[in-house]
Amino acid sequence: MEYMKNLPPHLQEKYKTFCVLPWIHLSTRPNGHLRVCCTANASSATKFGHSQHGGEVGILKNSDGKPANLNTTDLLTGWNNEYMKSARRNMLNNKIPPSCTKCFEEERNGHRSKRVWETQYWSKLVNIEEVISQTNKDGSVPPKLYYVDLRLGTKCNLKCIMCSPHDSSMWVSDWKKLYPKIKSAELKKIMVWDNQGKVDGATYNWHKDNPTFWQQLYDQIPHMKQLYFAGGESTIIQEHYNLLEECIKRGYAKNIELRYNSNGIEMPDKLFTLWKEFKRVRFHFSIDSIGIMNDYIRFPSKWIDIEKQLYRLDNTEPHIEVTIACAVQMLNMFYIPDFLKWKISKNYKKINPWPLGAGLINYHFVYHPTHLNVRVFPKEFKDKITAKYEDFYLWLKKNYRNDQEFLESGYGINRLKGMVRFMNSADWSNQLPEFKEYISKMDNIRGTNFKTTFPQMADLIN
Ligand code: SF4
Repeated sequence: MEYMKNLPPHLQEKYKTFCVLPWIHLSTRPNGHLRVCCTANASSATKFGHSQHGGEVGILKNSDGKPANLNTTDLLTGWNNEYMKSARRNMLNNKIPPSCTKCFEEERNGHRSKRVWETQYWSKLVNIEEVISQTNKDGSVPPKLYYVDLRLGTKCNLKCIMCSPHDSSMWVSDWKKLYPKIKSAELKKIMVWDNQGKVDGATYNWHKDNPTFWQQLYDQIPHMKQLYFAGGESTIIQEHYNLLEECIKRGYAKNIELRYNSNGIEMPDKLFTLWKEFKRVRFHFSIDSIGIMNDYIRFPSKWIDIEKQLYRLDNTEPHIEVTIACAVQMLNMFYIPDFLKWKISKNYKKINPWPLGAGLINYHFVYHPTHLNVRVFPKEFKDKITAKYEDFYLWLKKNYRNDQEFLESGYGINRLKGMVRFMNSADWSNQLPEFKEYISKMDNIRGTNFKTTFPQMADLIN
């Protein structure tokens, strides 16, 4: 099995649904909810998975069934709460935890899931056999976190089309204009923002005035191998800087790798100064298309600024690794071949250098809002996309690489084929009315124009 490649053969046989994350990692939501990992909470792989689970699949629950939130519980209690213990027990018994269906569904479609790449990655850094052997019968494990995913509130400087006020403070004003005008009951359900995020003890400032959380996290610094920051936008969040400074002050920064998913809009010089102290920085720059299409998706960014930041990042020190992270969705699936041609033409030195993303870019799917998932395209448009990709594979072989290494790489043509297979493997086109209503209303609110920005897709909203 591909994901087990680095594990001893007897483990490969024994644990077929194993993922390393529940043993080494915890993840937060911007509202302070704890979760197994960011993918576990991104919704299940089923069409209405998100709403079926109240948008809370993968969120750790307390014994009263309410979400474990860092306003009301602490990090280490969350680490061994019943939800985490049962995920571990399930995996050791060859069962798929309910929170993890998305990974397995993606693998069935030939996509390299988070379970696959994280387990492969971490099997080089930790002794997996030893980590498993420390599991007690009830699924609890010692309080040793190697890797945390921190979402320190929702402060952000963009309001991307696939985002929401759950993750971006900039979205609040648009949501207030959009929500009362929504006609479709299904779209209302998708766009719900209960009590403006203040439910079950959640708040977007959970990380402020929370000495227990910070004390427990700082106590974990000696074990820590990776700190991962994602939305809001960590580069404008003060507590992110405080944590980097604390790692340096305690003398452990050299052991720690920093990883970001960032919109790269604001990158002050002090960020680059702090990064010098760390073992490695992996910066996943969120870019979803080129030119005005990216401006539309990652509103209200401007392509000229994105290109400037790419240039800056392309000239950083060797311990900084940069990749482009593309959120694959309705608005860019058709144009990804054009995006890749642009990437190849730029000849960047260190932005997705081979073999990262096969020298092209990295991808992940948008599952929420559901009406932006690529499975929503009507059959005729899916056929058009499939044909465009088929032509593009030939173009890649002719103009980019045609060697065995590229052709066999999990991230090159194989990855693109997996994306097309995923798109074609289910028909969610009954969400098209929600797509049309959403795009038309957002155009009205933002003064954008879907039809002129994505002319080949204009008919989709007629
Ligand atoms: S199997 Fe997937 S969803 Fe579950 S913990 Fe691992 S990466 Fe997360």
